[in-house]
Amino acid sequence: MFAKLKNFILKDLTGENEAARVAFIVRINSLLMCSYFIMWIIGFSYEGRWRNVVSCGLCLYAFGTAVWLTYRNKVKAARYIYNAVLVCWMTAFVMQWGWDCGIQHFIFVLLALIFVSSYTSDSVKFLGCLGIFALRMFLYIWQIIYDPFEILSDRITYIFQMFNIVYIFTSMIIVLYFFTRDKMATEAKLARYNQKLRAVAGQDPLTKLPNREKIYAYIDEKIRSKTLENGMCVAMGDIDFFKKVNDTYGHDAGDEVLRAVAGVFKEYMVGHGSVARWGGEEFLFIFVNENLDTAGSEVFELLGKVRALPIEWNGETLKVTMTFGVADVNIAPGDGDNENVIADNVREAITAADQKLYMGKKGGRNTVMI
Ligand code: GH3
Ligand code: MG
Ligand code: MG
Repeated sequence: MFAKLKNFILKDLTGENEAARVAFIVRINSLLMCSYFIMWIIGFSYEGRWRNVVSCGLCLYAFGTAVWLTYRNKVKAARYIYNAVLVCWMTAFVMQWGWDCGIQHFIFVLLALIFVSSYTSDSVKFLGCLGIFALRMFLYIWQIIYDPFEILSDRITYIFQMFNIVYIFTSMIIVLYFFTRDKMATEAKLARYNQKLRAVAGQDPLTKLPNREKIYAYIDEKIRSKTLENGMCVAMGDIDFFKKVNDTYGHDAGDEVLRAVAGVFKEYMVGHGSVARWGGEEFLFIFVNENLDTAGSEVFELLGKVRALPIEWNGETLKVTMTFGVADVNIAPGDGDNENVIADNVREAITAADQKLYMGKKGGRNTVMI
């Protein structure tokens, strides 16, 4: 029974888009107003006020139509009806029974409804607000100048007031709840998307290794953490005669070589530091808390792995070698407090590693220069 009712109210509104949410807000508020007028019809019938029963019946019919329109995908028309009937009801109510019943507070539901759709242009929103403000002012001034057509007893006024409070609160909560829920879902989606975007932005798409920006951020983070008691080393590696691979086997084969060596580096560097694609067929390695001796021997190990790596390409097995330059980052006692000094020294070490690499190339390649 409850599930059926839920399905009925949520029908066609399972989509995530804003139009569906606005339709939902209008539908559920119109349903609420239907129940509101059913209450009045019962109350007025009990008292034999048949003219009031007829006018409330008309309002019930109008809100029923608004509900029906949301099932016909005519949310705009449903919104117009909802607003128009509420305006008429409020105005008639104030003229008939005066100000003390609190009906005028329905105006805030109308005000909130203006903002549920972000697609409504600012000028339309502004005009809507102006109209609602004018109506509120008009009603207030009217009740100052004119007495209501009918003076109610205190008891009836309290009942009217209670009813209105309950319905206005519920309507407001429905509008604001679904409006903010929508916004929160959108914001969460945006945050996830941004996270993904940041991850992609810092990553080289071919090798899936961090790019230059990302590795600089990594270095910065390490410096800031002040945990480099055993220093830091950097190594620059470049694939030997890579152009030949491209020329002989094609660019795609070159890409495959880059992916294969990057895979080896990534796996090896876990627990040692990090590795990035510096550009082309050059890679930068960061050894955290390691001195030149250990980092140097690890780079020798890496070279061994690259030499031994069989890269399958179109039924052939490609082999490559690399040349590396290794340098340590100069961190003097006391530098730990000055992040800028360390960052400069890291840059210097990268340049030194690059120069050693160049010497290795000149010296015949396939080697590690420390
Ligand atoms: P050396 O031993 O002196 O380093 O010689 P090398 O041929 O490796 O160096 P060179 O700088 O002459 O050539 C590097 C080549 O790397 C040229 C360029 O086309 C190629 N390259 C750069 N980026 C990519 C890439 O993303 N994919 C492929 N397939 N090739 C790339
Ligand atoms: Mg090269
Ligand atoms: Mg190169």
